[in-house]
Amino acid sequence: MAHGEAGLTLRVARILAPVTALGPGRRVVLWVQGCAIGCIGCASVDTWDPNGGRDLTVDEVAATLAEQIRSGELDGLTITGGEPTSQPDAVATVVGQVRKLVGPVDVLVFSGRPYAAARRSAPRLVSMADCVVAGPFRQDLPAAGRLVASSNQTVHYRSAAVRDRYERWTAVSSPGLEVTVDQGAVFLVGIPQRGELDEFAGRLHERGVDLGEVSWRP
Ligand code: SF4
Repeated sequence: MAHGEAGLTLRVARILAPVTALGPGRRVVLWVQGCAIGCIGCASVDTWDPNGGRDLTVDEVAATLAEQIRSGELDGLTITGGEPTSQPDAVATVVGQVRKLVGPVDVLVFSGRPYAAARRSAPRLVSMADCVVAGPFRQDLPAAGRLVASSNQTVHYRSAAVRDRYERWTAVSSPGLEVTVDQGAVFLVGIPQRGELDEFAGRLHERGVDLGEVSWRP
């Protein structure tokens, strides 16, 4: 590790694995903490507060991700948030360290910034990613496939081979949302269709289950 990176930290909302709804194969997903973009209808309002989550060293984050990938025999790392390009050096360093620890793992990054702005904010991270899904969430626009929550967002692949791999995955229809339980909290992971989260909460309510705090409402 380069001198000066030893104290580098990353604000992390959560890490979950295995996840199959956010990219091809079985993956570990890192949600970074902190987003100032403020999309109306964001499903992860709990990740907006830059002082929320946990401050971890990049070494700790990389070691945790690498361990999940190794022990779970996972296929990739997805980084979302929160806004990954708002902590560009820390996230890029984590990606580099994970690849040193486990080899050339596939990396998918979701950014709420348009692609050109994401590249300006986080050039190293964007250049390291196999796939970047870029652009703010617009709740007035429909989802477009398994990666794109609103049709204004754009998808950028590092190579034609990566595109083929992702397009094979997006061509397979899927329920979209995956339910994961971690440390007493329930997470719905994936790209929700419009109104799907409130519909889910409503159906649970009909069955006598009321959700407390939810990430998609402030
Ligand atoms: S959808 Fe993403 S970019 Fe938009 S406010 Fe939520 S976390 Fe931020």
